[in-house]
Amino acid sequence: APTALAIEISNLKKSYGLKPVLRNIQLALPQGQRMALLGANGAGKTTLLRILAGLSKAGSGTVCLNGLDSRYELQEIRQQIGFVAHQPYLYEELTVLENLLFFGQLYGVKQARERANALLQRVGMERRAKERIRVLSRGQVQRVAWARALLHSPQILLLDEPDTGLDQDGNDLVAALLAEHSARGGSMLFTTHNLERALAWSDQLVILASGRVVYQHDAATLSLEELQQRYREVVK
Ligand code: ATP
Repeated sequence: APTALAIEISNLKKSYGLKPVLRNIQLALPQGQRMALLGANGAGKTTLLRILAGLSKAGSGTVCLNGLDSRYELQEIRQQIGFVAHQPYLYEELTVLENLLFFGQLYGVKQARERANALLQRVGMERRAKERIRVLSRGQVQRVAWARALLHSPQILLLDEPDTGLDQDGNDLVAALLAEHSARGGSMLFTTHNLERALAWSDQLVILASGRVVYQHDAATLSLEELQQRYREVVK
């Protein structure tokens, strides 16, 4: 059933062995909105994103995406999310296009070849379609990872530091792709270490520290100076 929330996280906990990494997280993101997740290294951002993407299991608590419960409806959820991680999840020995077609088949994408070609063009990789992933530069691989993540037209984007390690062109491209996704009514959650981009690219800001939500604010009513001050207060 459709719901107004893109992401709904309730009482989420996760430990690795005896070490608690996420402690009772509650978060809600309305559909069509963008959430930035900030926090020091090790705060739990990647773990939270991986649980949302269905790549890691919650210890306890519930996670719903577009009203679908990850405990029971993971396959349906996967169809609705696009995930861009640090690690690109592409096959090194397959070509760019083969990777996209393989993924398209896995996700039942209609007219996958046309869609793949259009997306490769969008990310400036159309001339590399026949090259193997392993010969590409890191920035080029990241562009292919974006094309892959968008191939099945996901409603929700989950992005782990989409702005890290990119040159100016790469950053402009990412900013444009995010804006296009929002213009289509899509929702997104992204992590970043850059407070300025967190503010510019989001509707809601969340700071995690030691696995807890320690700060949350609307981006529209927050200045960069105030965010910087709050960040210094809550992140050691
Ligand atoms: P970064 O900004 O460096 O990506 P993060 O906020 O994303 O940091 P996580 O990667 O979620 O943090 O890690 C949170 C904590 O969980 C860290 O202390 C990390 O060492 C630990 N951790 C993460 N993955 C595992 C794992 N597979 N096994 C054991 N511990 C892990």
